[in-house]
Amino acid sequence: MAQGFYQLCLPQKGEYAMTREELYQSIYSHDTIYLPPHEQTSAALEVSLGCSWHKCTFCDFAKDPFRLHPMEKIEESLKLLASLRPDDTRLFFLGENAFCMSAERIFTIMELTGQYMPGIREYAMYSRIDDILSKTDEELSRLHGQGLAALHIGVESGSDSILEARKKGITSAQILDGLWRLDKAGIDYYLTIIPGLGGRTFSRMHAVETARLLNQVHPRNIWCLKLKLWEDTKLYKEAQNGMFDEMTPAEILAEERLLLQNLTVTDCLFEDTTVLDQFTIQGMLPAQKEELLQAMAYLLSLQAM
Ligand code: SF4
Repeated sequence: MAQGFYQLCLPQKGEYAMTREELYQSIYSHDTIYLPPHEQTSAALEVSLGCSWHKCTFCDFAKDPFRLHPMEKIEESLKLLASLRPDDTRLFFLGENAFCMSAERIFTIMELTGQYMPGIREYAMYSRIDDILSKTDEELSRLHGQGLAALHIGVESGSDSILEARKKGITSAQILDGLWRLDKAGIDYYLTIIPGLGGRTFSRMHAVETARLLNQVHPRNIWCLKLKLWEDTKLYKEAQNGMFDEMTPAEILAEERLLLQNLTVTDCLFEDTTVLDQFTIQGMLPAQKEELLQAMAYLLSLQAM
């Protein structure tokens, strides 16, 4: 695989030369790469594949077995990326939780990036909370000093019961600890929440406890992605066996409205790209909170008709 990668990337005279499209494809393991909403213009460097945890019962995102790419492959990708996007200033490290890499490994990749893409000033990546907790305060500050600007983190819920039932592998206290440590280090964070994750039975608890947690931290963005039950997940099987009471899209929106009503975060973009499976809502908190609540109420009133 790696050999083919190098042959394709460095065609000799008279050999087949790759198109720009093919060069891009040769950098990534899959045809589609998933960047969070606020990284859509960032260059993307694949540093790992899969998730080091891989146990959340609702997740169908992490399909690949977990692995860190060898430094040689990362360097080859960087060379290509540099030729394709020479003017970029922000680089996203791809991998379901790329921040599980040790601080030293991240520094090494940043150093390599500096050689091939000297214009890069900022870095971002996906992280689990325990990836943050495994690093010292000093490492987090040094990473920030070297350009680590933001982490994108799936918090999913503020309820310990729901986190445990869905095998998230972290507690609300750990979430607070990890995010406060990012505050201290000056690293921004963008959080994902999953409305509907508690099912009908725990809907109210999910909304209220998630708001309570979010109100104690300082996310730049709260991105709600309503629960979708994927057939290849454990949670789907639980629902099939009557052990999880899946909510309707309208019930999930009502739950999300309760979450928003309880939110007191400031300077934070609230958004949901999955409303009723067809709408996107977006607004700054607290300035546009009332507008968002009204939009949700309006959409819910249409459902009742
Ligand atoms: S930590 Fe994220 S990527 Fe990994 S299994 Fe859980 S939801 Fe999926």
